[in-house]
This record gives sequence, structure tokens and C-alpha cells, in this order.
Amino acid sequence: MIKIHNLGFPRIGEHRELKFALERYWRNEIDQDELLRVGAEIRQRHWQLQAGSGLDLIPVGDFSYYDQVLDTSVLLGVVPERFGSSTGLDTYFRMARGQASDGQPYRACEMTKWFDTNYHYLVPEVAADQQFALSGSKLFDECRELQALGYQPKPVLLGPLTWLWLAKTTSDFDKLDLVDRLLPVYGEILRRLADQGVQWVQIDEPILVLDLPTAWKNAFEAVYNQLQSAPVKMLLTTYFGELGENTSLACKLPVAGLHVDLVRAPEQLTAVLDNFANHKVLSLGLIDGRNIWRTDLSAALGTIAVARERFKGELWLAPSCSLLHVPIDLEHEAALDPTLKSWLAFARQKLTELEVLRLAIEEPAAAEPDLIVSANAIRSRRESTLIHNPAVQAELAKIDSSLMQRQNPFPVRRGQQKARLNLPGYPTTTIGSFPQTPEIRKARADFKRGLLSEDDYIQHMEQTIAFCVSEQEKLGLDVLVHGEAERNDMVEYFGEQLDGFLFTANGWVQSYGSRCVKPPIIFGDVSRPKPMTVRWSQYAQSLTGKPMKGMLTGPVTILNWSFVRDDQPRSTTAYQLALAIREEVNDLERAGIPIIQIDEAAFREGLPPRQSRWQTYLDWAVRAFRICSSGVKDSTQIHTHMCYSEFNDIITSIADMDADVITIETSRSNMELLEAFIDFNYPNEIGPGVYDIHSPNVPTTDDIIALLKKAGERIDTDKLWVNPDCGLKTRQWEDVRISLANMTEAAKALRLAVG
Ligand code: GLN
Ligand code: ZN
Repeated sequence: MIKIHNLGFPRIGEHRELKFALERYWRNEIDQDELLRVGAEIRQRHWQLQAGSGLDLIPVGDFSYYDQVLDTSVLLGVVPERFGSSTGLDTYFRMARGQASDGQPYRACEMTKWFDTNYHYLVPEVAADQQFALSGSKLFDECRELQALGYQPKPVLLGPLTWLWLAKTTSDFDKLDLVDRLLPVYGEILRRLADQGVQWVQIDEPILVLDLPTAWKNAFEAVYNQLQSAPVKMLLTTYFGELGENTSLACKLPVAGLHVDLVRAPEQLTAVLDNFANHKVLSLGLIDGRNIWRTDLSAALGTIAVARERFKGELWLAPSCSLLHVPIDLEHEAALDPTLKSWLAFARQKLTELEVLRLAIEEPAAAEPDLIVSANAIRSRRESTLIHNPAVQAELAKIDSSLMQRQNPFPVRRGQQKARLNLPGYPTTTIGSFPQTPEIRKARADFKRGLLSEDDYIQHMEQTIAFCVSEQEKLGLDVLVHGEAERNDMVEYFGEQLDGFLFTANGWVQSYGSRCVKPPIIFGDVSRPKPMTVRWSQYAQSLTGKPMKGMLTGPVTILNWSFVRDDQPRSTTAYQLALAIREEVNDLERAGIPIIQIDEAAFREGLPPRQSRWQTYLDWAVRAFRICSSGVKDSTQIHTHMCYSEFNDIITSIADMDADVITIETSRSNMELLEAFIDFNYPNEIGPGVYDIHSPNVPTTDDIIALLKKAGERIDTDKLWVNPDCGLKTRQWEDVRISLANMTEAAKALRLAVG
């Protein structure tokens, strides 16, 4: 009997109910009971939906009010001292975002990318004398809720080693030493779940797909030897890549089952089968949990057949990883072209695919109609003329190194840019967006719905730009931006104007906390029919004597934040995007824009989990950036911007991109992330973010001066720029004005100090 199960379900809700409830709670518009009620309602609905798809085991504990890693930290009693001793939802929100609904400011925990996804988790903080204690009852309560509905729960726990791996230490010590203190709490959790009647617990240990130091590999054996005494069955789950040299380790751990990702790493099946014992459960991750394409069910059945041939134990089928990374339901996409729609599957459809796979094995005849529909969709996509554009392919074939080289090296360009731009020391700028007010959103929405004419829309946007420019002039910023009012999202905006993209109406995916994104779907060859941003930047520049910075999203970020076609290498799609953006960069230059920022916010997160594959990625990603940015004259200044960048290990590639200026996120880490710039002499200019825009707290001038001084210890002060650490679109004008005024004050003070 083949079981089907799921590793996790998106929790934000089909219509982002959780997002809206959270935000209302933070604004004090609803109380905690109401927030909890919405949460419970979403959980129930999702459990029923999953049970309706025939899942044998339903995940529980995958629901979260902000982040599952933070949930785990709280469950383990790991709350940094600065948040005080009280636990509860408000402490939880303070850790997550620096503020609960009472407005008291705290330094939030750091946030960073969850492996190579676009999901952000809250980084656990552990001290050398860290104590652990089971705290809170969320997991146990939710488990009981699910049981009360009559379903078989499979609690999902982030494994002790992965949790610890993701943690940052507050002083210099080996965090692995904490494991002995940590394990008893895990033991207690498992025992309590067993007491509640739980049979299977899913323990996520995705770090098994990384290159692990020997000490960590050894720790796996020790940890699971100890945990095996717990009276539950453990399903150890791995995803996002291949087990590689950890295969035999993972296969031999004393757990009842193992889940492997056969979408990212189909080739690992053989090695797993070579090592796996027949008395255990093997869970095959066959449905892509990271992308929205319909599964090739006949290929999946082929894989299952291979497994069944050699493996005589119990087989389970599942998505490759949690479905957190895909939208919930394709049925909400009424406006999608039916052909394109037939190629797609969202979370709900993916679970149906699982059901069909099981049926195809157990009652082949009954599955036949579904298999035919699936096969037709796969064939239609493969053969479709909508995908292939000969003109794009001809351009692609012409790419050579001359397309990746600025006219002169940075020192020469720098001289020309200095002469042209005439900026003071510590030049101030912003990362691009200004607050997206309700009026702006309404204008965009009305225009989209045809309620606002194009002329009226343009007028509205121009007014917004004019307001934004005048505010920046009042603040005394040196390099201005137009404010990005016309953009709903930095990737969607470009995707909507490029050929080869497809958009959903409701395809939301959680990015962090209540923030969701609606990734475009790149389904075909990419090209730019006409200029995308030139009119806005040109208008903004016409209003001011200060240099205007054009604002584009880079090819690697567009790629990493989209659902990408899986029928050609990612690098090919990246080069197509690069050629399209290059045309835009060149058009901006022709329109007289002296500075062009090409955001590569998601550059780092595209790194494959395994280090041995990094260089290949970095090579093509850097090439793509250079293709789009190298078509301009020396006197045009190219900026790039990156979010949450831990650069230590990729700093040479960052330098290879050869942007004249890079702005990065560093404030949350108190400039610690600049360590990379000490050992490596970064050749070009840098704007280390001087305050955290993700937190509602306003920085003081002194805070900023202190940070800049810290930055000055690591970077030549004549290469320093002064800017927030990201765009301001989620903030309110009132705070933005104060924050930026304090920031320009700080720059002035430092200029005076330098003399
Ligand atoms: N230019 C973008 C903005 O300011 C950059 C956003 C980002 O890095 N995520 O909004
Ligand atoms: Zn950013």
C-alpha cells in the first residue's frame, strides 16, 4: 500500500487572509483572539483540503504566524535576552519585526534566505551558555486541533542540527557544542507528541544536502542515535538538492523513514536505493514543490517503477519539499490563457497529482483518464510555438565577451563619473522606492481595471514623481530617484512588459512574515518589445538639477524571483533577460540618465545549496549582469543593490560584476557583514545600508554616524555612500522623512569631520 503525504502547506491563505489579519493586529485594529481565530480557520481549511486530496498523513506545525524557524526557536525556549522574559505572541512579533502592537521598539532578529529560496527565516541567536527549555504549546495544540477533526497528524519539526546550523552565535564558540543541551528538549517534544497519540513525526534536516564539516556529519549519528529512543516514528526529510556524499549517512540513520528530493536531484535515487534498508519507509519527492509546472506523471511513474523494482520496503510519495513555495490554487486563475493554464499546477493541483500517481499504481485503469490529460498537457507545452522565438535565439547566439566589458576599467570610469556628477564626499541616496501610498495603489489598480484613462494615469504618476523629487530635494539628498510608484513589484513590473512572461491574478507566495510576492512565470523566450521605464526616469530628471538614478531589476533577480521554465538551463533564460535589460539600460543612457541602478537583490540566494556548484552559478550570473550593464559609456555610473548579503564567500564574484557602486544590507548586523570587505580589497564604491527599512523604528543621526564610522574602519571613506539598506516602499512618509533627514544630517556631520 503506497501512502501519499505532504511536507508542508502554504499558510498565508488562498486570499492572503493571514497577511491581512496580521497587519490589522499590528495596527491594533483587531485583538489577539481575532488573529488566533483567523489562524485556526486557515489551518482547518487547509487540513480539509489536504485530506480531501487523499493524503494519508497531514502535516501539522507547518502553519506559522511569521516563520517556522522562529517558531522552532520559541518552542526550544531560545529568546534573546533583549526581549525580556515574557513569552507569547507579542514577544514573538518583537523578535520577528522589532515591534508588536504596542509600538515599543526592539532590535529584531536577523532575517535571511531559507536555503536557495525566496523565503526568509528569522535567524536563531544562541549564546555560549545557552539554555533550552520546551516552551509554549503551539505545536501540541495544533496537533490536537487536527486530531479533533479526525485526521492522522504528522507534526513537522525543524531538526536539531538544521536549526543549530542556521543559528548565529552571539560570541565566538562552536555552536555544535550546544547539541547535548538541545537534545533533551527534542526528546521531550517527541515524547509529548507520542503521548498525544502521534505516530509519525517529520523531522526536516535539509542541511543533509549541503557540504557538511566532518564534525556535523558525525553529529547526525550521535543525535539520531539518541532520539531514536523516543516512542514515535521519525521521517527524516531532506530537500533542495542531492544527499551526495551524505547519502550513506542519511540512509543509515536510525530513523523509521527518509524523504529525498527527486525533482532537484533525480539522479540520487540509485545511490539512495543502494544504501537503503528494506525495513524502512522511503519517501519519494516527485512533485516539484518549488515550481508551478504540471508534473510529467509518466516520468514520475517511471521513477516509482525503478524504486519498486529494487526496494521492497514501504514507499511513500510526496512533493519534493514543502509547498510553502508555490501558490495555493490554480482554480482562482480564471483569466489565464487555457493552453498556458493547462501546463501549470499549484499546491492543490500538486496534491491531486500525487493522488493520481497512487491511483495509477493501485488501479491503473481508473487513473487512465487523468494520465491522458496530463500527457496531453506535457506534449502541448513541449511542442508549443508560444515558447520559441527565433529572433531571441539569434541574439543569444551572438553573445561574446565584447558584450560583457565596459569601455575602460573602474579607475578610468571613476574619474569621468566624478567630473560629470560632481558629488560631495559621503554622497547620499536611496535604494529606489518611496512609500506606496493608498492613492498610488488605487491609481494603479484603477488603471489596470480600465477605470482610469492612460492619460490620467500618467498624470497621476507624474504628480507622484514630482512630489517625490521635491521631497528628496528638501531632504538634501545627492542622488535622486523617481520613487517607483508605477511598480507593484520590482520583478512583476518588468515581467509584465517583457515577452515570454505569464502572470497570475492570485499566485501569492510568502516572502517573509506577512509579505507575499506574486512571482511571474517565465514560460517562453524573453524579449523587450519597447522601453519600460524610460519615460518615468526622464520625467523625473527633467524636474531637477541633481542626478537622477534610473532604476531597473537585474536579470539574475528577475530569474530568481520568477517561476522559471524547466525546459532549458536557467543560465539560458538569464542571458535572454540580460539582453532585454541591456536594451533598457542603453535607452536610459540615451535619455540622459547619468546613473542607472540595476538591482540584483536576489543574486546571492540563487547560489545552489552545495558549494561545489557555486562557481558555475556565479560564472553565468556575473556574465548576465555584465551583459546588461556593459553597454554604457564610462561616464554613466552603474549601481547595483543587493539585499541581506553575506558576501564573505562570494566577494570576488561581486567585484567581478564590476558595478561602479554597490549598495548592500548591513545595518541589522551592525556592519558585521562588512567583514568580507576587510580581507578583500573591494575595488569599487560601496553604500552599506545605514538603517534597517524592514523595521518600523526610526534611526537617530547618532545611530547612523556610529554605523558609518564602523563602516569607515572597514572601507576607504572616499568610497562610501550613505543610504538606507533597501527600498522604502513599505514605509510611511512620516517615518521616511525623519529617517532620511537624520541620514543626510549624519552624512553632513561626517563631511565636516573629514573637512
Ligand atoms: N529598487 C528597489 C526598491 O527600492 C529595490 C528593492 C529590493 O532590493 N528588494 O524597492
Ligand atoms: Zn534590497
